Amino acid sequence: MLLDHLNHKLQAIAAQDLTRVLRVAESTTAPTQSVRGANGQTRTMRMFCSNDYLGLAAHPQLAQAFAEGVQLYGAGSGASHLISGHGLAHEQLEQALAAWMAPQIPQAQALFFCTGYMANLAVLSALGDADAEIFSDALNHASIIDGARLAKAAVQRYAHCDVAALEALLRASAAKVKLIVTDAVFSMDGDVAPLDQLLALAEAHDAWLIVDDAHGFGVLGPQGRGTPAHFCLCSERLIVVGTLGKAAGVAGAFVAAHPTITQYLLQAARTYIFTTAAPPAVAHALLTSLQLMASGEGDRRRAKLQDLQAQLRNGINQLLAEHPGLGWHLVPSDTPVQALVIGENAATMQLAAHLDAAGLRVPGIRPPTVPKGTARLRITLCATHTEADIQLLLDALRHAVADLPGTGAPA
Ligand SMILES: *Cc1c(COP(=O)(O)O)cnc(C)c1O
Repeated sequence: MLLDHLNHKLQAIAAQDLTRVLRVAESTTAPTQSVRGANGQTRTMRMFCSNDYLGLAAHPQLAQAFAEGVQLYGAGSGASHLISGHGLAHEQLEQALAAWMAPQIPQAQALFFCTGYMANLAVLSALGDADAEIFSDALNHASIIDGARLAKAAVQRYAHCDVAALEALLRASAAKVKLIVTDAVFSMDGDVAPLDQLLALAEAHDAWLIVDDAHGFGVLGPQGRGTPAHFCLCSERLIVVGTLGKAAGVAGAFVAAHPTITQYLLQAARTYIFTTAAPPAVAHALLTSLQLMASGEGDRRRAKLQDLQAQLRNGINQLLAEHPGLGWHLVPSDTPVQALVIGENAATMQLAAHLDAAGLRVPGIRPPTVPKGTARLRITLCATHTEADIQLLLDALRHAVADLPGTGAPA
């Protein structure tokens, strides 16, 4: 029966050290958070796991804009966009996002989605019809993988950021429509896809480049305009998906593309058509968020992030140099996503538990989220962290290493 069947599966998950647990946050997201644990007790933790990279989620101006949006438009949208749920705030936001992306995509238009997950499902399932072939980086986000599964198109996976392998696949393809899809900043590694080379391939092989900029939007490029701007790309072959719940600090996502593409998505994207539009207040708050991201304050927050990243990387690299036998590896990354690859699931979770006991929340990431044997700590930084926060994390890592058998100081 079902419950026995599921209990069996739950045991198998536990036996591999893969059980995921939920915690209840009782406060804002970063850099500290009150968290209620399984025992019901509340602790204040320093968080190194939020994607609120600019620390905007708790920004007073955003909270005020959100409240103003509710005053103006009420709590809910009441219907899907195409029925009656597309309000003035949604329209203003789509216009603002289109203008934001116009330097990268000539004549760009934008559609606002409830989540990035839904935006990726929309783009891949709607554009990936039976005439298309999808070329997908091996480390792409789960929502891209699921979108490709929903598509009628054939799907080819290419090795992570392997431009030569991708070119060979494109050369061999006879598909009428070729769609290359990649994370811009890889969510579990923090490295950046070679978007310039990928776009050059798209142009050479009559393909289109879908960029999921979940972790670059607001962070990379001048004014945080995103990874395509960081690479100074400009092409109508670019289709950009951006999330608005990470650096933008609110919720939702957008697809920006050539008008023919967005017009088609409006007709065919099931996750836009068959779902209630996000509350208009979300869109209203996001208008303020875009202004904050592009402002001098946004620039200061991005500069702070750079400093914190350098401090963290220097500290970890020094620790690894002192303990070459550890076998740990810090993935090269110039973004707020910093991955310290440990390897085994159990060792990774023990390390995460050690940090947790020290009041630091750094999630251990295991398969299937990352490939087998590459379990890791995924450390994310926010502009609202302090140098002292980073130092605490470095000290705790150092203590954890000293506690490992064979690495402690000689007695
Ligand atoms: C978070 C994330 C998404 C999903 O965005 P949501 O708005 O959280 O649904 C999509 N792609 C990548 C790479 C992400 O990291």
